[in-house]
Amino acid sequence: MSELQENIDRFRPYLAALTKGGIKNRINGQDSKGAGWFTSTSPVDEAELAQVARADAAEVDRAAKAAKDAFADWRDMDGKLRKALLHRIADGIEARAEEIALIECMDTGQAIRFMSKAALRGAANFRYFADQAPSARDGQNLPSPTLMNITTRVPIGPVGIITPWNTPFMLSTWKIAPALAAGCTVVHKPAELSPLTARLLLEIAEEAGLPPGVWNLINGYGEEAGRALTEHPDIKAIAFVGESKTGTQIMKQGADTLKRVHFELGGKNPCIVFDDADLDRALDAAIFMIYSLNGERCTSSSRLLLHADIHDAFVEKLTARVRSLRVGHPLDPKTEIGPLIADVHRSKVASFFDVAKTDGATIAAGGNIMPGPGCYVEPSLLTGADNSMRIAREEIFGPVLTVISFSNEADAIEIANDTNYGLTAYVWTNNIARALRVTGQLQVGMMWVNSENVRHLPTPFGGTKTSGIGRDGGDHSFEFFMEQKHVGFALGAHKIPKLGG
Ligand code: NAD
Repeated sequence: MSELQENIDRFRPYLAALTKGGIKNRINGQDSKGAGWFTSTSPVDEAELAQVARADAAEVDRAAKAAKDAFADWRDMDGKLRKALLHRIADGIEARAEEIALIECMDTGQAIRFMSKAALRGAANFRYFADQAPSARDGQNLPSPTLMNITTRVPIGPVGIITPWNTPFMLSTWKIAPALAAGCTVVHKPAELSPLTARLLLEIAEEAGLPPGVWNLINGYGEEAGRALTEHPDIKAIAFVGESKTGTQIMKQGADTLKRVHFELGGKNPCIVFDDADLDRALDAAIFMIYSLNGERCTSSSRLLLHADIHDAFVEKLTARVRSLRVGHPLDPKTEIGPLIADVHRSKVASFFDVAKTDGATIAAGGNIMPGPGCYVEPSLLTGADNSMRIAREEIFGPVLTVISFSNEADAIEIANDTNYGLTAYVWTNNIARALRVTGQLQVGMMWVNSENVRHLPTPFGGTKTSGIGRDGGDHSFEFFMEQKHVGFALGAHKIPKLGG
C-alpha cells in the first residue's frame, strides 16, 4: 500500500471521531449548536468534511459571558499551576500529533511534509509560554527620592482571538498559549474555511484539565461571529491574524469599546539577492519561502529582487526548479505543493496570471489552474516585472513568485520599501557592511540575512505599515495580554503643594 493510501486510511477514523454530530461550538465546557450549521469542505476534492455550528451574536455573547465569569479564578490561579496545566496541554498535543497533522492537511490543503511538524511547533508554543507563566506578573522597583515606585502586570481580562485559515493550528497555539499563560480567558474564532483543528486543540486542553469557560470556541463567519466578538464590551482585547483589510474593519468595529488590538496582517515581502551572495543557498531559500505551505504564508518571499549581473543565470536555475516542484495530494509525503484553501481563493490567485500578462510580465513557469478535483494551481514564476505592477504590489497568497531586477544597493532598497506592506525581508549578501546598511534601511518588522525565516520564540514577530500592529513572542505577547500597574509609596513626609486656605 502506498504511503498516501496509508495516510488516507489513518485520517478517516480521526475525522469521523472529531466530526461526529458536527463540529459544535464550546462554551463554558459545554457543546453548543449556535444558530445553525455551515459546511466545511476539503480543498483536496471539495467534498464535505463536516457540518460546523454557526455562531451568531447571541452565541458570541454567551461565549464572552462565560469567559468573563471564568476570568477571576483563572487570573488568581497560582502561576505555577497554570504552568503545569499548559505543559499538560503541550503533552496532549504531542500525543495527538499524527491526528492533528492529517486533519490539518485535509482541512487546509497543506502538504504533510510541512504539517507533520505543526503539532510539535504548537506544543513548543505552549511550553515556551507555560514556563513564563509564574513570572508574567513580575514588575520593577523604580525608586525616586520621595517614593518607592513599584510596578506589576495583571491580565487584561477576557480576550478574543481570531485566526486565519493558513496554518490554523500553529497560529491558534501561538496566540492562545500566551493569553492563557498571562491569566486571560479566551474566546477563539477560527477561520470558517478551516475550523477542524481548533476543535481538536480545545478538546486536548479540556482533557488536560483546563477549567470550563477559560477557553471558549465559536465557529462562524467573520462578518457575523467575528464582528460580534470584536464589538463585545466584555472582550477587552482582540488578537487578530488575517488580511490587512480585515484588520481595518476590526479596528473600526472595536472603536466603540476602545478595544486593544494586536494585528498580524499581510505582506509582500522582498527577498534581495546581491551578486556577492552564496547563490545556491539563496536559490534554495527563495524557493522554500514562496513555494512551501502553498505560498499561503504571510512571511513568504513573494518578491524576488535580483541584482542585474546575476539575474539571467539565477532565473534560469529558478525556472527549472519551479517546473520540477511536485504538486499533489497533501497526504502524499512526496508532495511539495497541495491544493489552495478553496476555489474562491484559487480564482483570486489565478486572476494574477492575466494581470501579469496584461502588465507585460513573462510567465516563465506555471500560469494555469490545474484540472480538478481539488483547488490546484500550477506553481508559477513571473519574471520581467517591475515594482509598479500589481503582481509586485498585491498579496497573491499562493505559489506565485514575482521577479524584479535591480541595478545597485540603493535601487534594491528603494524597490523593497516601495510597498504598503512591511512584514519581513530577506537579504542575501556576503558583504557584512552591506548587510548592515541594507537591514538598517528596510522598513519591515523582521529580517533574515542569508537565511530563510527561522522562528525563534523569544524574538519579536510582527510587521510595520499595513502588515500589522504589535509584536508576538518573548515578553511582547505578555505586554499585549496584560496591563501594567504602577503604585508609588511615599517614603516619608515629602512636600505636598498646598492649594487654597
Ligand atoms: P481574513 O482576514 O479573511 O480572515 C481571518 C479571520 O478573520 C477569519 O477567522 C475570519 O472569519 C475573520 N474575519 C473576517 N472578517 C471579519 C470581521 N469583519 N470581523 C472580525 N473577524 C473577521 O484572512 P484569511 O484570508 O483567513 O488569512 C490570510 C491572511 O492572513 C493573509 O493576508 C495573510 O498574510 C495573513 N496572515 C498574517 C500573518 C502574520 O503573522 N502577519 C500570519 C498568517 C496569516
